[in-house]
Amino acid sequence: MNNNWLRHTIRSFEPYHVPEIREHTVINANESPYNIFDFPAVKAEFLKQLDQTPSYHYPDPFAEQLRAALADYVSCRPEEVLVGSGGDEIISLIVNTFVNPGDTVLIHTPTFDIYGIDAEIAGAKVVAVPDLPGYVRNQEAFLKQEKKLQPKLTFLCNPNNPTGELLPLSYVEAVLQASPNPVVIDEAYLEFAQQDSIISKLGQYDNLIVVRTLSKAFGLAGLRIGYAVAQKDVIEALSLPKLVYNLNVLSQLVGRIAMAHRDDILAHNVPPTIATREYLRNQLNALPGVTAYRSAANFVLVHVPDGPAMVQALSRADICVRFYKAADLQNCLRITATTMDVAERVAAVFQQEVSHA
Ligand code: PMP
Repeated sequence: MNNNWLRHTIRSFEPYHVPEIREHTVINANESPYNIFDFPAVKAEFLKQLDQTPSYHYPDPFAEQLRAALADYVSCRPEEVLVGSGGDEIISLIVNTFVNPGDTVLIHTPTFDIYGIDAEIAGAKVVAVPDLPGYVRNQEAFLKQEKKLQPKLTFLCNPNNPTGELLPLSYVEAVLQASPNPVVIDEAYLEFAQQDSIISKLGQYDNLIVVRTLSKAFGLAGLRIGYAVAQKDVIEALSLPKLVYNLNVLSQLVGRIAMAHRDDILAHNVPPTIATREYLRNQLNALPGVTAYRSAANFVLVHVPDGPAMVQALSRADICVRFYKAADLQNCLRITATTMDVAERVAAVFQQEVSHA
């Protein structure tokens, strides 16, 4: 193909390449180990409602029932919620709603890659504020850039992927107050953080947009259900570039059922994940040369003396983790906290590797 056909902003992009995963224990994508259809009440209701869900109708463009259920979950009004095909679609909608070519988008680094990628596709100038040593956000420098650059859009990931760091709501508010433009707070992992959502302050900030997902704590990554929470007119703006039928009927249905059973699902899924995370962190931190950073999410970022060797050792034990090429994550592995038996296997591999080193 003639490369000149491509839109300028994506000409230097590498084709998306998903490496083949040969291992059977896959803990590289912060997925939940729990299947929602293993809850008998959820499965029964799904099968019952499936009978009344004809495939020949288009889905509801605004997923009104799911939207109302999500609004009830996060204590806001249905008009303050927009449902999409994963948090990924929501992030892309936010960028497509607000960013013109040449605008500045402020992020911190390391963080979730998609903010920078979507901003680049839109032709924005991405400014990234590096963490302090130890993967601690440089709060002061970030606020300074916020005030100086007045970016068209700001992203703060809380808790942050991949570091796990949680920022206090007082700091999130300071950023919202410093910006005259929209500020995105990505709370994809908030259910694991044991901290209130910034959504409780929605009435005070017309520039606040919160990104949430059912992929993590609810274990629905395969159904692609994400949502934005913002004041009503911002939600209406985000709907402008939205595909009309962006969330299919089956995802809308399962999302509704998940919300109807949300207390049982969260009580089942979240505490053991947090316990596994803390076990992993303590076990790995006890090893010489290994640093497992404090995390408020369902994963732990771990720095080791020889990252590629540790990834290989885990792979030989049939375990796939996330490894990074980025300079600021050298020799770091991100390990999803799933079940205790998996964490014990991970810890055993680390122990063996460290004792051989
Ligand atoms: N935000 C963050 C910080 C994430 O890590 C992810 C998924 N890895 C998402 C958003 C998007 O999740 P999904 O599209 O599955 O809802």
